[in-house]
Amino acid sequence: MNVKVLKFGGTSLADAEQMKKVIRIVKADEACRYVVPSAPGKRFSADEKVTDLLYLCYETAKKGENFGEVFEKIKNRYRDIIRGLGLDFSLEEEFKGIEVAILHHAGRDYVASRGEYLNGMIMAKALGFTFVDAASCIFFNENGSFAAEETNKSLGELLKKTPHAVIPGFYGSMPNGTIKTFTRGGSDITGAIVARAAEADVYENWTDVSGFLMADPRIVKDPKPIGVITYRELRELSYMGATVLHDESIFPVRFAGIPINIRNTNDPDAKGTMIVPSSKVEGNDGNVITGIAGKKGMSVISLEKDLMNAELGFGRRVLEVLEDLGLSFEHLPSGVDTMSIVVATASLEGKKERLLDGICRAVKPDYISLDDGFALIAVVGRGMVSEKGTAQRIFGAIADADVNIRMIDQGSSEIDIIIGVSEEDYEKSISAIYNAFAG
Ligand code: ADP
Ligand code: ASP
Ligand code: MG
Repeated sequence: MNVKVLKFGGTSLADAEQMKKVIRIVKADEACRYVVPSAPGKRFSADEKVTDLLYLCYETAKKGENFGEVFEKIKNRYRDIIRGLGLDFSLEEEFKGIEVAILHHAGRDYVASRGEYLNGMIMAKALGFTFVDAASCIFFNENGSFAAEETNKSLGELLKKTPHAVIPGFYGSMPNGTIKTFTRGGSDITGAIVARAAEADVYENWTDVSGFLMADPRIVKDPKPIGVITYRELRELSYMGATVLHDESIFPVRFAGIPINIRNTNDPDAKGTMIVPSSKVEGNDGNVITGIAGKKGMSVISLEKDLMNAELGFGRRVLEVLEDLGLSFEHLPSGVDTMSIVVATASLEGKKERLLDGICRAVKPDYISLDDGFALIAVVGRGMVSEKGTAQRIFGAIADADVNIRMIDQGSSEIDIIIGVSEEDYEKSISAIYNAFAG
């Protein structure tokens, strides 16, 4: 029999009405065996996500202040859902336990994870599925990295014995039993881990848009949906800011060749986007580009030095300075005697001077500068490999929009072109590229 793993995002579980849609989706198909819920998200744009409220409880308690009012809001979100679903079920004892734990300064990750934990209990009750605490089957190593093989073995064995289960997203446990979460949006990763362990035929990721769109719908009006996208393309787009799917969530399923299907809880008849291995697709329906994504908040360190290209170990010495400061870089475009390093501005806080001093000492450049206020835009498409003149079309569109390109980098895979522009030109550039290829 087919096995499907379904992950539902925060907006799909924001209130009882949304939950009813989810229950209908799961109950409609016998193959829907394993469900991975997020915590309740926003019901309307000015609303608060339960996860954000939990982080606020943690911060408030840490300052020794009263978090009761915020916690009451959280409890009421769950009480409303239970009432709206007409369940004969109470979480009051769980609430008490969590409140006491926060009072006794439980860890930040433990507190944040309770959003998914409580929602998982409700979902399990509503669906009549077994509740499986993610702490008992999703494991992290001592150094905080995800323990992929250990988890896959133990979760696989557990799922074999459990025909229908709800496994809360976002967290797992450390070797000493304490709770650890993935980074924000991490329920997508849990869904992929469960899909691999269950040897699922498909990993359905249910959200509030009818699939991956060619551009962020908050920037481009009604962008075209993407029917089929490869894991590679998706990773580029999600890493570069298309937040639909956590960029790390492809690894467990790619490993097992399980396709991901992005679906819309509010429009379950829409086919959504299929994410598949490159070997499974041919061409791109005549589309040169698959999608555009990007992110603001970047800084660029520019270096110049005569005969840089001949200086053995130049790049290594520069990157060692970054490594010593715990900084990772986003991109590294270089010319004959120039090198630029793109780094997230937020990661440089309190480190700028040490970084510049360190580089000057390490490689004695003729010129060095550090500029903030950059945005990166990635134009991604498997169709670009065979199509000549794509770069020209992109640059032409940006020039016509009167935007100055500050940096260009083409990935070695030839499926992406990265462009750096000033932050204030970000939206304008994305719209211009979209219109040139899909408008
Ligand atoms: P969930 O809570 O279901 O995990 P997210 O908020 O994480 O959902 O992701 C869905 C949102 O991603 C959409 O509502 C949309 O605003 C945003 N988004 C950004 N880029 C894209 C894109 N290229 N295609 C579709 N949605 C996008
Ligand atoms: N609830 C967590 C967050 O808001 C994880 C998730 O939704 O995927 O980041
Ligand atoms: Mg998400």
